[in-house]
Amino acid sequence: MRQLDPKLAAQRPLDIFVFSIESVQGQSLKTHEDSLRLLEKLGFKVGEFQVFEDMNRVIEHCEKVKNLRGDLPFEIDGVVLKLNDLSQREKLGYTSKNPKWATAFKFPPEEVETMVRSIEIQVGRTGNLTPVAHLTPVQISGSTVSKATLHNEDYIAEKDIREGDVVVVRKAGEIIPEVVRVNMDKRGPDTKVFEFPKKCPVCGSAAYRNEGEAYRQCLNASCPAQVRRKMEHFVSKKAMQIEHIGASIIERFMDQGIIEEIPDLYRLEEKKEKILSMDRMGEKSYQRMKDSVEASKQRDLHRFVYALGIPYVGEKTAKVLAENYDSIDEIVGSSKEAFEQIDEIGTVIAKEIEAFFQEERNVVLVEALKKAGVNTEKKKTNTQASRVFEGKKFVLTGTLPTLTRDQAKELIEKHGGSVSGSVSQKTDYLLAGEKAGSKRDKALELGIDILTEEQLMEWVR
Ligand SMILES: [Zn+2]
Repeated sequence: MRQLDPKLAAQRPLDIFVFSIESVQGQSLKTHEDSLRLLEKLGFKVGEFQVFEDMNRVIEHCEKVKNLRGDLPFEIDGVVLKLNDLSQREKLGYTSKNPKWATAFKFPPEEVETMVRSIEIQVGRTGNLTPVAHLTPVQISGSTVSKATLHNEDYIAEKDIREGDVVVVRKAGEIIPEVVRVNMDKRGPDTKVFEFPKKCPVCGSAAYRNEGEAYRQCLNASCPAQVRRKMEHFVSKKAMQIEHIGASIIERFMDQGIIEEIPDLYRLEEKKEKILSMDRMGEKSYQRMKDSVEASKQRDLHRFVYALGIPYVGEKTAKVLAENYDSIDEIVGSSKEAFEQIDEIGTVIAKEIEAFFQEERNVVLVEALKKAGVNTEKKKTNTQASRVFEGKKFVLTGTLPTLTRDQAKELIEKHGGSVSGSVSQKTDYLLAGEKAGSKRDKALELGIDILTEEQLMEWVR
């Protein structure tokens, strides 16, 4: 919606239910009901609400709404219960995260039956074989679902999930569809126990499963499926952020032999003619790709470390490494023992990092990228300040114990963060002092972390 022309966005049948007044002048509201009635009077659409005096009636009502759920023209996942008397709300106050005067009655996730048409084995970035069920398309919680995760080999065996089975599917956490169980009463006579492949379905190499591991793994480092996933990770937003080369371009380029490994991304000009001869690929899109590849050469060290796809090294660990070392060469040359000396890095991860750089192909990859002109060193800032707040958005409110607003702002910016005036979904942290008012309430409502000056100082220390 955000990226659309506002005129187009205006044509979309968007609607809103307003559920609360943050503050109001010239009116004194005593109850939540008063505020909702006022909103209605002002012409806002207000969500359906009812006031109860007896807790048993509240429970009955929740059950009633649960049963109506399927008949509503929109999706709901529960009912919100709020204390009506606003002065009592004041008395109850908040926990560190939530108001004490409101709670949600969440419905259990919707479960639907459908058929497993086939089970496909996908190969991940690190070679893990993950099974996915292809389903007869079915509506769950407002969207059509045609695939569901089967997690791993043991999950299939434990639940005895077979191709052709009728299964119960739900969205875990209302997002990722998963197969919950088989409806054994509906199992046909011809189904066969699913046999998990012992070979990689993409490259045919033997797939091994180590003791204690959940996944069977393809160990072929040049397995095309793994290379593709590694490349997708490398260009992704939190890694090297090569915006105009996404999963589908990578797939097409690999199919055409334009790229075979990550450093090929930095040699696109050698394949320019071939690229331009492809469908829907003009001079303009070629140039955009080239530009975004060029821009990726200037990324910070921590992004480069993350982009390499070292097992268990996520964004956070990559940042920790980049803070403790000045360049990728230093990291490559370091040891398990040295990594372990860093507070945030445990034994297992330390071992993984060392093992990663003991593999020659990974060192070759680093060298090739360096040669291509990719930044592999820590950028020097004048003040040598850490960049702990890189990309984080702060809002300040209330009186801080020692810092002035300007000093706090300067401190945040020096460490890579930014400060804005009002709390929104985009805010990462609210720095709150004494007499923090509506901004604090808003932050609580949006679930935004609230920091004290002390916590802020500890962070930059
Ligand atoms: Zn493979």
